[in-house]
Amino acid sequence: MESVDVLVVGAGLAGLHTATLLARSGREVLLVDRRSNLAGTIRTTGIFVRRTLEEFALPDDCLGPPIRHVALYPPSLRRPVTLVSRRDEYRVGDMGPLYVAAAADAAAAGVRVVLGTRYVGRLDDGYVLVDDDGARSVRARFVVGADGARSRVARDLGLDRNRHLLVGAEEVFAVPAGDGPPTFHCVVDPSLAPGYLAWVVNDGRHAHVGVAGYGARFPRGVRHALERFGAAAPGLAGVERPAEVERRGGPIPVGGLLRRISCPEGLLVGDAAGAVSPLTAGGLDPCLRLSEIAASALDDAQHAGRPYALTHYDGAALRARFRGRLLLRRGLAQVRTPALATAAFVGLRTPLGQAAARRILFT
Ligand SMILES: Cc1cc2nc3c(=O)[nH]c(=O)nc-3n(C[C@H](O)[C@H](O)[C@H](O)COP(=O)(O)OP(=O)(O)OC[C@H]3O[C@@H](n4cnc5c(N)ncnc54)[C@H](O)[C@@H]3O)c2cc1C
Repeated sequence: MESVDVLVVGAGLAGLHTATLLARSGREVLLVDRRSNLAGTIRTTGIFVRRTLEEFALPDDCLGPPIRHVALYPPSLRRPVTLVSRRDEYRVGDMGPLYVAAAADAAAAGVRVVLGTRYVGRLDDGYVLVDDDGARSVRARFVVGADGARSRVARDLGLDRNRHLLVGAEEVFAVPAGDGPPTFHCVVDPSLAPGYLAWVVNDGRHAHVGVAGYGARFPRGVRHALERFGAAAPGLAGVERPAEVERRGGPIPVGGLLRRISCPEGLLVGDAAGAVSPLTAGGLDPCLRLSEIAASALDDAQHAGRPYALTHYDGAALRARFRGRLLLRRGLAQVRTPALATAAFVGLRTPLGQAAARRILFT
């Protein structure tokens, strides 16, 4: 049976980053993903926030133009509240090339990246992987579950699993460079996006038109809501939606970091660990940060030869940082009618309301 120090399941940003850090510190790492092409089946809009852009080395040629404008709309779409930052707040990743570049970095660091390979479970003392040639078992000192919001690794290790999920869907298409500044348009309308937002990000290169919310609260499903929103979405003046668009979508955990995210056999990172801001539903920054903590915990555990060292990688302790955002998430989840959303805009139009929105959006 093949044997490695660490098996990482999932080559999203969390798995790629964790695997690369581990390989750089001398670990033998196998990274598998069921996708056979990392540029395909993308599940994220790819908005990176300023903190991430400042602190992580993302390839500049995989990032769109900086965005400083955010427009917040009530259900009527009339009189948006526009906030403008003095700094570049967001850039949208060209995620296909970005994943491919991150996988090349991982391989250069010594990670064995194996695509088209699905993790299906544990058997005796091995982890079972299936590809086109069939099943095989791999022995690993540690396993990392970087396999997304509905993590199979979490289930097999008996760790916590995400229970509070939004579901999101979006369409992406190229747009001509317009006159206006790159802008992030957010619509608060629970009939379109129950418990979250509908959005258009138009950075002058691509438009992302999406909705997300609690799955059970969409009256006719998320796809129907997206269709409805797409027909009247703001921020697309002079832009014609092409017949062919890229479609993205998937679950978004918003219950905050899970408590039990490690055991002597391994740990969870990224969406698998619930590392997503409960309020903004942004997971790219938390997944990179948690991956650094995870790689360091794994390195310590392997170095010391004491797998129990992984118990220090404790979601319950790290979760405290999410507390304020969890409270605000509960508030947003209670905005159940367009009338209530409209009323909330009365507060948002005040200087105090705008200062609060700035604190959330421009952090
Ligand atoms: C519609 C949508 C829009 C979003 N937009 C943003 C945004 O703009 N900004 C932001 O910060 N966050 C956003 N998020 C959240 C963000 O995308 C995620 O938090 C982040 O991508 C999580 O990365 P990850 O590596 O943990 O998981 P993922 O990127 O989901 O990667 C998991 C990987 O595991 C693989 N995998 C799963 N199961 C197996 C298995 N059994 N065997 C092998 N491989 C497996 C999958 O193929 C996948 O490649 C969005 C989410 C959604 C759904």
